[in-house]
Amino acid sequence: SKYVFRFGGGVDDGGKGDKNLLGGKGANLDGMAAIGLPVPPGFTITTEMCTRYYADGETYPESLNAEVANGIAHIEAVTGKKFGDAGDPLLVSVRSGARVSMPGMMDTVLNLGLNDQTVEGLAAVSGDARFAWDSYRRFIQMYSDVVLELDHGKFEEALEIAKEDRGAYLDTELTADDWRALVDEYKALVLKQWGKPFPQDVHEQLWGAIGAVFGSWQADRAKVYRRLNNIPGDWGTAVNVQAMVFGNMGDTSATGVAFTRDPATGENAYYGEYLINAQGEDVVAGIRTPQYLTTAARERAGAKPLSMEEALPETYAELANVFHILETHYRDMQDIEFTVQQGKLWMLQTRSGKRTAKAALKIAVDMANEGLITREEAVARVDANALDQLLHPTLDPKAPRDVLTKGLPASPGAASGQIVFDAETAERLNELGEAVILVRIETSPEDIHGMHAAKGILTARGGMTSHAAVVARGMGRPCVSGAGGISIDAPNRLLRIGERLLKERDIITIDGATGEVMAGEVPTVQPELAGDFGTLMVWADGVRRLKVRANAETPADCKTAREFGAEGVGLCRTEHMFFDAERITNVRQMILAETEAGRREALAKLLPAQRADFFGIFTEMAGLPVTIRLLDPPLHEFLPHEDVDFADVAAAAGVSVEILKRRAAELHEFNPMLGHRGCRLGVTYPEIYEMQARAIFEAALDVAKASGEAPIPEVMIPLVATRRELELMKDIVDKTAKAVFAERGASVDYLVGTMIELPRAALKAGEIAEVGEFFSFGTNDLTQTTIGISRDDAGRFLTQYVDKGIFARDPFISLDVEGVGELIQIAAERGRATRAGIKLGICGEHGGDPASIAFCEQTGLDYVSASPYRVPIARLAAAQAAL
Ligand code: ADP
Ligand code: MG
Ligand code: MG
Repeated sequence: SKYVFRFGGGVDDGGKGDKNLLGGKGANLDGMAAIGLPVPPGFTITTEMCTRYYADGETYPESLNAEVANGIAHIEAVTGKKFGDAGDPLLVSVRSGARVSMPGMMDTVLNLGLNDQTVEGLAAVSGDARFAWDSYRRFIQMYSDVVLELDHGKFEEALEIAKEDRGAYLDTELTADDWRALVDEYKALVLKQWGKPFPQDVHEQLWGAIGAVFGSWQADRAKVYRRLNNIPGDWGTAVNVQAMVFGNMGDTSATGVAFTRDPATGENAYYGEYLINAQGEDVVAGIRTPQYLTTAARERAGAKPLSMEEALPETYAELANVFHILETHYRDMQDIEFTVQQGKLWMLQTRSGKRTAKAALKIAVDMANEGLITREEAVARVDANALDQLLHPTLDPKAPRDVLTKGLPASPGAASGQIVFDAETAERLNELGEAVILVRIETSPEDIHGMHAAKGILTARGGMTSHAAVVARGMGRPCVSGAGGISIDAPNRLLRIGERLLKERDIITIDGATGEVMAGEVPTVQPELAGDFGTLMVWADGVRRLKVRANAETPADCKTAREFGAEGVGLCRTEHMFFDAERITNVRQMILAETEAGRREALAKLLPAQRADFFGIFTEMAGLPVTIRLLDPPLHEFLPHEDVDFADVAAAAGVSVEILKRRAAELHEFNPMLGHRGCRLGVTYPEIYEMQARAIFEAALDVAKASGEAPIPEVMIPLVATRRELELMKDIVDKTAKAVFAERGASVDYLVGTMIELPRAALKAGEIAEVGEFFSFGTNDLTQTTIGISRDDAGRFLTQYVDKGIFARDPFISLDVEGVGELIQIAAERGRATRAGIKLGICGEHGGDPASIAFCEQTGLDYVSASPYRVPIARLAAAQAAL
């Protein structure tokens, strides 16, 4: 089969811009060339080659040699230069390119094809020795770093020394001779570190780079990134080999990156950075501070250096036209790399641009309004999980701020946390539940796990398109980059900002929307949910079938949930209501009572409090269904565990310490998760459920009377395994309802149902549905009881389970569709067979997870229930699942 696809110069091998085959970069180079944009000619070695390379024990098939040679011949034909020719050498870049852009993959090697002979040829043809030697030193440094993997610190040091010797501040101030001398030093460094001279054979250079790209697919940092982003290991990466164009050929040459819309705000305005007389890497690496692309952005920032619009007006106009063509062609905001070689524009990359959640929303809504995409596409485009960024608080504008310094607003959102200086510490403290801010001079792919563990990222160097900025935006972490005012003393774990000296673990706050860095913790405010957010939600609601409810147990949570669009409560856990300082004494009296009469006495004291709870919740949810789960946890959770507390508790409950201790010992369980809990409490102490049922119905009638709008209580019995259990519990609830309705002379509609959270309940759902009027899948417990993994203990080994491919994702976060999902399907089917149209929902963490929601849609559940802040995510995910 064919492993090499050529592009550019009017040649098209029919790759059809296929990302799976050519990788993202290769596909779009092919695509741009196909629509006639100026793309330097090149070829792509497919992702299939990468997969085969690993399948065949890291070897290439014979045929690849000829295919690559044919690819090089194509570039030679289009450019009229020859690879390795001492007279007029062809230089190429070698770039990796997976299906999705992936930090952790091999960095690009530029200027490949230079050696001691060809550099002279390049100097002669270009008439610019400085440029030729600058390119050669760049090549040796990059190749040594990314292909030979030598210590790049030494190379940087040599460059710094060369600059110091010359009293130069910028690279651009060095001369041809300076670069020539540096090349000699670099070659000596290679010989010393690698034990062999720098490869002079251009074909050896090329194959070395190709091998390094494929090799980087299995590098640790790439694996970490794949794990965090659920990218399958067998996708492979492509290799792109492309003729070099030079942005470092003087003042009419430049290189830059641009977005067709603002990636931070979504504003419909070009956004970008460029550098005169530079090569691509210079912009992203933060070596020189890049200049603004547009005059508007330059003026807004109050910056002096000319914008590209001012410095190179004709090329800029051409570029703006390309932006328009690309957006119309790809129908999405594009992230573009370009180079200008002596006034001539070349396109080097385009892809759908990463953007903040805010920008994603705005761009999707704007593009639908512009008619570029449909409303359904707009709904499909916004990553539901990314909405999370918008739904969380930002800094309170009125709160005092002790601003230490200001950097670039690289990724929005605000975060406070302890200062840490390295990724390992970030990860360690995060595991201990500490909020941390990762502070680095600049970040590299090795820092990704630390960036993930941090609440926010602060860097001293790098622009809006630096590694830190791009990765942080993708992860949804707030980031302030290029904060030039900070200086980091990593060995001593100190951060100096002006006069101020901060230590590791001191608290700072960063605001990724303004670039401000503040001392201490700054309070936050709730997000604004109107505007584009509201518009997209209306469109989403128009296509979704699944209802979305919230897991909420306080009136405040219900209010938030309703503002976020919840259509009821899917899970109100009643046990939290019993932990309140005043109530717990009554709860304990109930537990400690030796007789039913004693228990009833304590429960009578709890009744008004419980009724008030439900009154508040029903008031917020008037007119909507509210699923209330009766008491679920083992009773000993309410008793003290520390010896020191016994005397106080005993005194408050009015019993002796001896009785308390004896009762606590009696209630001790070896495996409480599978112990005396759930409906088993109702079976042994029916009076508890009776009190709860009474509180529910009395509150419902009170609300109906007060507001004229009756709530719809759905009384849910937990941990049912058999039909008979549910029958007994339903009897308690029905009898209580009847009694309350008779006392009040009024009634409300209600349902009694059960949580399906045990495999037996799922299997016997047909029988259980004879009694139960609804099912709610309690997927937290159903996951732990189905897999037999305690979710409180799973943290210690689950990561390895995911790493080793036993589970694709943590089954407590994303539903195990194959196993637990099958039980849900069985229960849904059998339940419906008995009781046509039985109401089915899901509560538990999975109700807010987009992948799990897609499963709920396929299974035809009626609703999902998620935590209040995840309600909008669930609404959007439900809409996407329905599309
Ligand atoms: P990344 O994925 O990190 O952006 P790229 O492969 O896109 O890596 O390349 C890194 C830099 O090198 C970019 O700025 C790009 O513009 C530049 N570059 C890549 N290929 C060429 C080329 N053929 N000529 C000139 N510059 C190039
Ligand atoms: Mg790129
Ligand atoms: Mg449960």
